[in-house]
Amino acid sequence: MWSSPIRYEEPVFRPPSEAHSLILQLTVGCSWNRCTYCGMYRNKEFRVRSTSEVLSEIEACSEFAGDVRRVFLADGDALAAPLQVLKETLSGIRRYLPSVQRVGLYGDSRSILRHGVDGLSALKARGLGIVYFGPESGDPETLRSVRKGATVERQLEASKQVTASGLKLSMMVLLGLAGTDGSERHARATGRFLAESAPNYAAALMLTPVSGTEFHSACAQDRLQMPDRWGLLQELAWMLEEMSEFRGPFFANHASNYLPLKLRLPRDREKALHMLEEVIARRDEKDLTPEWARGL
Ligand code: SF4
Repeated sequence: MWSSPIRYEEPVFRPPSEAHSLILQLTVGCSWNRCTYCGMYRNKEFRVRSTSEVLSEIEACSEFAGDVRRVFLADGDALAAPLQVLKETLSGIRRYLPSVQRVGLYGDSRSILRHGVDGLSALKARGLGIVYFGPESGDPETLRSVRKGATVERQLEASKQVTASGLKLSMMVLLGLAGTDGSERHARATGRFLAESAPNYAAALMLTPVSGTEFHSACAQDRLQMPDRWGLLQELAWMLEEMSEFRGPFFANHASNYLPLKLRLPRDREKALHMLEEVIARRDEKDLTPEWARGL
């Protein structure tokens, strides 16, 4: 019986666009692990796996992954690994998996800024292709309230450093993160942030409070109210209103979204705003993805 040469420490997450990638776990957990809404790595203590262990997995993969095109380095913030570890891992991928055309990973603002443009450029030269970064909001108050551990300015600087290094930048933000009270402030500031940081790709996901998180407890105890479905769509519209300067693909088609949108901006902006306005005014459930079909 075939058995994988990779020993994953579950759970393992990856962006939707890495669905067909070979996942290698360079780090375990998240180096920050304090955001109030996130339960992804709650039970994992962050560590960088030993380079020899990772390299031997890469070497073992060469026997069956002959035509693998993409590799995703997990877990939550693989960019937190020391520069030398990242370089050796990327060199190992080049050596043992020569068909790989792009390597991607999650990186948060702390890790991006620690490596700086020089470090990121060195990683690009060894095959890193894309950084997935989730600033989640462009609103200072929201970032503070969810304990993101980074300011808007630092996150903006991190974005600029990724693109200055020549790496692709894919950015994720979260609808609903400021509750109903901060809804419009969060949405508009985030739209402006996306336009200013100019990532290659941007995606807006709808936040679903996860049991066991502080965010979920705050909702359960009525200290925080999540916008309803129409309120979340209104946030998307406010966000788009602020994105007249944004150029490139903007996705709101994650499984969490009630109204999947896949846009190329600025071309599709007016049409999308018009459609959102109609759907919000009509309030017809038939316009939305049913709750059971949202792949959460
Ligand atoms: S949202 Fe990202 S940075 Fe925050 S705890 Fe989760 S994985 Fe870590």
